[in-house]
Amino acid sequence: MEALNYCIEWIDEDGKKNNPSNAPIGGFGNLFRHKKEDLSPESPQTFGGRFGDAGMTYNAAIASFLVYGACQYSLSWLRDGYLLNRHIAALILNDPSTYPTTPDFEPRMMGSSAEANDYMVFCGSMWKNSPEAREWLKTCAEEITKKKCDGPGCGKIEGRLKEYKLCGGCKQKYYCGAECQTKDWKENHKARCKKEKEYAAAVRAMGRLGGGIRD
Ligand SMILES: [Zn+2]
Ligand SMILES: [Zn+2]
Repeated sequence: MEALNYCIEWIDEDGKKNNPSNAPIGGFGNLFRHKKEDLSPESPQTFGGRFGDAGMTYNAAIASFLVYGACQYSLSWLRDGYLLNRHIAALILNDPSTYPTTPDFEPRMMGSSAEANDYMVFCGSMWKNSPEAREWLKTCAEEITKKKCDGPGCGKIEGRLKEYKLCGGCKQKYYCGAECQTKDWKENHKARCKKEKEYAAAVRAMGRLGGGIRD
C-alpha cells in the first residue's frame, strides 16, 4: 500500500506540491502529469498515459496488483505503463533469469528499449520475486494493447483489437466513433492535430538520427 501511495505521489502533480521532499520534480513530464482525482480506484479509466514516467507507472501497477489484486484499477495502471513503454512489458514476460543487469546510461527516447533496460535493472527484481504478478501481466497482455478512446470525457476501451480508428490527420488519436471524434475536433483537436503530427514526425526524425538516441 505504501508503495502504491509513493508511486501516486510521484505521478500526481498536486501530491508532489504538497510533499516536495517526497520525489524529485523533473522533466517535461510534469506538464502532462495526472490529476489527483484521476488516481483513485473509483476512476480507473481516466489516466492520460501518453506522457509520464513509464517505470513509476509499472511500479504502481504491480503495487496495485499486490494490494487490490487483478481488478480494473490495477489493469489501468498496467495499460498506462504499456502506453508509455511497451518494451518493459515484453521484458517482464521474458524468463526472469534473463532480466538485464547492466544499466545503459546512453541518451534515449521516452518509451525506448534503453529506458526499458534500465527499468529492469533497477526494478526487475520486484517482478522476478512475484510470479503471480508476472502471470497476471501475461493474462492481461491482449487487454493492455487495446486502445482507449481519446474523445472528451469518454475513455472507453475497445472491445476487440484494432476496433477504434485513428485520426487521419495526425495518426495519434483514437476514437470509438464519429461522435467522439467530432466532439474532440470541435473542443480540442482541431487546434492541435497539425502540432501532434509535427511532434510525431520530429520524434521519428530524432530516432533516425541514431548516434545515441534510440527507440
Ligand atoms: Zn489528428
Ligand atoms: Zn469515445
